[in-house]
Amino acid sequence: MDLGCGEESLGSFGWSIPIEEIEEILEVVPPCICCEEAFVDEAIYDVNGEYYCKACFAEMVRELQPEALAFATEQCKFISDDLPIFDPLEEYRPTREEYEAGEKYANTENSFRCQLRHEYTNYDSLIAGLDRDVFYDQIIYAAIRARIMELVDEAIVQRDLIRYEREDD
Ligand SMILES: [Zn+2]
Repeated sequence: MDLGCGEESLGSFGWSIPIEEIEEILEVVPPCICCEEAFVDEAIYDVNGEYYCKACFAEMVRELQPEALAFATEQCKFISDDLPIFDPLEEYRPTREEYEAGEKYANTENSFRCQLRHEYTNYDSLIAGLDRDVFYDQIIYAAIRARIMELVDEAIVQRDLIRYEREDD
């Protein structure tokens, strides 16, 4: 399992700021707090008000990742054994007009996965105490989310949760 913190996907952590934005606030952009090199990338990473270059930020995430993943692996679990089935014949999604009118009910494979995550695992209670503005919490959040997705995927395959219930023949 990986948090997808390769340098190309670091943006998903939401800490990157375009260099021009920093230039508008500060006259002189400071070097990376970690390697002390001037920034060469188009964006820098703000962790608790300190600016990191992409490479140093990626390294920091990489260092925290094993601990976060170990925590998630130990903590994440299903809270019910009685899991629902998604029958693709029952798929329903509102039209754009219905959606815009506030009728947002949908029954799709995606909404089924959301339902499993929120109602049948301890995902919500695990993330409840996390502060999304705290860097370490965001790494933990990413690890919990990745692990829960993995558990949901495993359950769908192992317990055959997506299947046609109607047997016509
Ligand atoms: Zn650096």
